Amino acid sequence: MSTNILNVAKQYDTQAKCLSYLIKLRWGKTVKCPSCDSNKVRDIVGQQGRYFCQNCKTQFSVFTDTIFEGLLIPLPKVFGVIALFLNAKSGMAAKEIQRNFEMTYKSCYYLAMRLRVGCLVNATKLHGIIEMDESYFGGRARKKNKKMPDNEPSLSGSSQTNNRKRQMNMVSVAGMVQRKGNVKTQVIEKLTRRNLLAMLKHYASKDNSILVTDGFKSYKDLDNYIDHLVINHSKEFSRGITHINTIENFWGYVKNSIKGSYKAISKKYLPFYLVEFEWKYNHRNFKGNQFEAFLKNALSQPKELYHWKAKSSKEVKEVAYGK
Ligand SMILES: [Zn+2]
Repeated sequence: MSTNILNVAKQYDTQAKCLSYLIKLRWGKTVKCPSCDSNKVRDIVGQQGRYFCQNCKTQFSVFTDTIFEGLLIPLPKVFGVIALFLNAKSGMAAKEIQRNFEMTYKSCYYLAMRLRVGCLVNATKLHGIIEMDESYFGGRARKKNKKMPDNEPSLSGSSQTNNRKRQMNMVSVAGMVQRKGNVKTQVIEKLTRRNLLAMLKHYASKDNSILVTDGFKSYKDLDNYIDHLVINHSKEFSRGITHINTIENFWGYVKNSIKGSYKAISKKYLPFYLVEFEWKYNHRNFKGNQFEAFLKNALSQPKELYHWKAKSSKEVKEVAYGK
């Protein structure tokens, strides 16, 4: 089955069918208690997807500890939204979900945010030729003497400006992409050598890998850690394999998408939007059933990630990047 809204709507047209599918994807044949991992559980009669654990005496459901927990929207609708969301390569605004599914704006907004968290992947490390680059998001000028709260819509994805005040309001993001492979981004407040090295160590394997960057000073000493090629942009844009065109294309894709689909997004939630675009980029050539891959991924995330309704920028970053 392809990730196609017509197929999904046809195949999962009732709450019961959706629930059976989620149960199968989460546990296979053996249902396990999310709190104690015991398989001594019994069904609660008349409530599909709800169980009682005989070991720790608690009730749980197929939604417990997942991004679906507490969701009141009927599942056939949720499945439809997921299909549309995954196919929207440039993102899908909550307004658009609202127009398609007749739900309140608030429900759509929070559902989309849950789905972005569902896109978080515990990925294998990047290797081979890896391009690393930084980019700045946002840029709408703030009003004089008025502090911009960090949940105010402010990231318009517009191009950079030399105005210093505006630059202060921009968010710096570092990104790495494996040639012909996956991309990984991280909102990093200070693009210091130390922070970039930490990101590199966390998401890339240095063995049999070559790092390509531009001449930005914070990349300078990374060759102590990994084989490193530098393209000097004041002289040339590429020399054989030495270029960072792939990551620059990714930045272009994300910025155009934000501009086109979301118009403006909140600074606070930028990490979640980036996670969405990473998933979409990383699945650009995916041959299998992406709908199923997404649900499986969303259902199997570690417990710490379920706080999708984060309260501060710090919490959003912790969900997106771990502690
Ligand atoms: Zn239990």
